[in-house]
Amino acid sequence: MDQTLENLIRLQQLDGEIRQLRTSLETTPRRIRGIESELAAHAKTISELEQRQRDEEARRRRDDSDLKDQQAKIAKSRQQLNTVQNQTQATALEHQISFAEQEILRIEDGELESMERSDIIDRDLLAARQQHASHAAYLESEKAAAARSTLLEQADLAKWQAERAALRPQISEQFGEDRLDEYDRIAAARGTALARARDQRCTGCQMGLRPQLWNQLRDGQSQKCESCGRILYVDKRREPQIETGRPGGASGTPNAHTA
Ligand SMILES: [Zn+2]
Repeated sequence: MDQTLENLIRLQQLDGEIRQLRTSLETTPRRIRGIESELAAHAKTISELEQRQRDEEARRRRDDSDLKDQQAKIAKSRQQLNTVQNQTQATALEHQISFAEQEILRIEDGELESMERSDIIDRDLLAARQQHASHAAYLESEKAAAARSTLLEQADLAKWQAERAALRPQISEQFGEDRLDEYDRIAAARGTALARARDQRCTGCQMGLRPQLWNQLRDGQSQKCESCGRILYVDKRREPQIETGRPGGASGTPNAHTA
């Protein structure tokens, strides 16, 4: 393979590496922010549960105070019963006592229900706190790993960028600005400028190549894919030397006609 192609292939490898590293360097902080917002959601769940628990406790304190009021009413009515003058007054007081006793039962039922809700909230809180703690630990380990990988990726990026910066003038010096312009133009349009030709196909677009073009490529001539326009190359180190369409050509047998 001629040197211009070797250099262009290396340039494409570098461009690919640089693109991947940039993508990774951009996505890593986004991924960390995603984990952070999940952690914030866990914290919000906890504070909502804690608020519901406080509401239940406040409700039971009100119930306790209502209970004492009703008990006081009963005690007062019982005292008054001792000094009533007639049956009508006595009946009225007994009604009051009975009503207050009903109220006490109602309040006690409410308190029991509140206690049951509190038990469920406690259980949910325990689970939510455990989830939060394990997610927080996960976040910390991901942050540490991200910091390490970011450092490595930044170092690689600097290395590949330096090699690229050295390679481009070398290519344009050896083979002219045009070759580099052509590479840049195709790469901008297609993502990659070069494609390996293999098994008489362009690996960039998977289209078949005319036999004549394929032979020219294998003779070392530079050609472009007629479908996608990428610069084609044959990697002779990896391409089996199969001669097709010739008498005695053992198709499928590598190196059958190697000179
Ligand atoms: Zn192609």
